[in-house]
Amino acid sequence: MTRPVAPQHMVTRFAPSPTGRLHVGHGWSALMAMDLARAAGGTMRLRIEDIDGTRSRPEHVAAIIEDLRWLGVAWEGEIIFQSQRTGTYAAALDRLRATGLLYPCFCTRADIQASLTAPHGPEGPVYPGTCRGLNAAERARRIADGDAHAWRIDMGRALAMAEARAGGGTGPLRWRAFDDDGDAMMTADPLAHGDVVLARKDAPASYHLSCTLDDAAMGVTHVLRGTDLRSVTDIHRLLQALLDLPSPAYRHHPLLVDAQGRRLAKRSGAIAIAALRAQGMDPHALATDLRAGRFPVGIRPASA
Ligand code: GLU
Repeated sequence: MTRPVAPQHMVTRFAPSPTGRLHVGHGWSALMAMDLARAAGGTMRLRIEDIDGTRSRPEHVAAIIEDLRWLGVAWEGEIIFQSQRTGTYAAALDRLRATGLLYPCFCTRADIQASLTAPHGPEGPVYPGTCRGLNAAERARRIADGDAHAWRIDMGRALAMAEARAGGGTGPLRWRAFDDDGDAMMTADPLAHGDVVLARKDAPASYHLSCTLDDAAMGVTHVLRGTDLRSVTDIHRLLQALLDLPSPAYRHHPLLVDAQGRRLAKRSGAIAIAALRAQGMDPHALATDLRAGRFPVGIRPASA
């Protein structure tokens, strides 16, 4: 007789970047992540993605927490701040460097733009691999000279290694998608993104690395986030395989657009949660509307 498998304790999360005030789309996303966990008797966590020193602002952190609380979004445990986890990111970078999959890249944004051969990937121009071919002596010399550099992953070699680790080399790398109807396995195509940056010149880790490490450290089992981050899930899956991390299930919700069809942005203050509060909106009514897919002032999901 086989023993019944214990149901997994679901852990979801909301992971805003403190680069502005939250808008109703963020509130909708956070409520969905919380409701998903609540319905399963699970746990909802909050992570502040504040390692982008040029765009993150401490005052936005306090505002985000205030806006979420006002809307009735609640989370369990400590809030995780990426700015306090840089040692973990550095250790993972060391580990990846030791596998020989990373290389320093000295190119500026302008160098990359100027490269006429750069093809386009899901997130824009794909890095043409200029610095991949530098020899060890040249790399060492430029680092010793103090040349600013990022660290990129050699995606071709990384994918071969990740596939060998994840599936014993028996097939492509896959990630699990979930929705109300169940799960589906999606084939990951990290090669389409080229040699992405894992450590930036101006930040200790890229979003891809910090997000992947944090989801694992926080025990996240189900990631719910916007569809703009769907394609990068392929990169996150690759990093999970290389760093022996568990792979959560993913669901990507549509982004919201305004009455003119423009994607909501943190800069469009009119639909900020704080603005609705200032107008005297009742938070329970707003949360009820968002849960029912009713949005203020002509806002709607992009695909609808
Ligand atoms: N910090 C990202 C954002 O605010 C979300 C990252 C994620 O959910 O994976 O868009």
